[in-house]
Amino acid sequence: MKAEEMKGEFDKLFPSPKCELNYRSPYELLVAVILSAQCTDKRVNIVTEGLFKEYNTPEKILTLTQEELEEKIHSCGFYHNKAKSILNMSRALVEKYNGRVPDTLEDLQTLAGVGRKTANVVYSEAFGGDALAVDTHVLRVSNRLGLANTENPTKCELALMKYFPKHFWSELHLQMVHFGRYKCKSQNPDCEDCPFVKACQYNKK
Ligand code: SF4
Repeated sequence: MKAEEMKGEFDKLFPSPKCELNYRSPYELLVAVILSAQCTDKRVNIVTEGLFKEYNTPEKILTLTQEELEEKIHSCGFYHNKAKSILNMSRALVEKYNGRVPDTLEDLQTLAGVGRKTANVVYSEAFGGDALAVDTHVLRVSNRLGLANTENPTKCELALMKYFPKHFWSELHLQMVHFGRYKCKSQNPDCEDCPFVKACQYNKK
């Protein structure tokens, strides 16, 4: 299946995909994406609704101790590492960027606690850049569709970037996340009426 044809099918399935994390600033998005690892967006939104009422800037978050922040984000899971990442990232923003989230991929990736996937999401979602973040859904869908043959997210990202034109990347990321979340699920994917059934490797196994 050609890249344009595949994107056309994703457009029909998810014509205007939106990020499902709630945020009002690049900083809030950055915190929400860090919290979303191994957690549902729904749970993250519940936690951030309370957290951001008082702590919605790096300076304000840094008034919390690690333990206090852990308590506030506890229900997102992996709270120890997530609190550490949020505090390190906030410190780096204050020290290097005057408290503002940088708007380039290169700078985002230098922030402590911010990995490639998080940087890509913030760059495309908050700043309108072209980036293709690979999370667990994008990775699974890419392998099933034969677009990648790897469990390594970076290799998968590079394969997708080579296959699809740049102007598709950001929207395609959201469409593949939605597709993986609601149709091409990890267990029992809903293959009925799937437009990619011919290209799909999953059903061939
Ligand atoms: S046919 Fe099934 S497994 Fe393959 S891409 Fe479609 S939903 Fe996913």
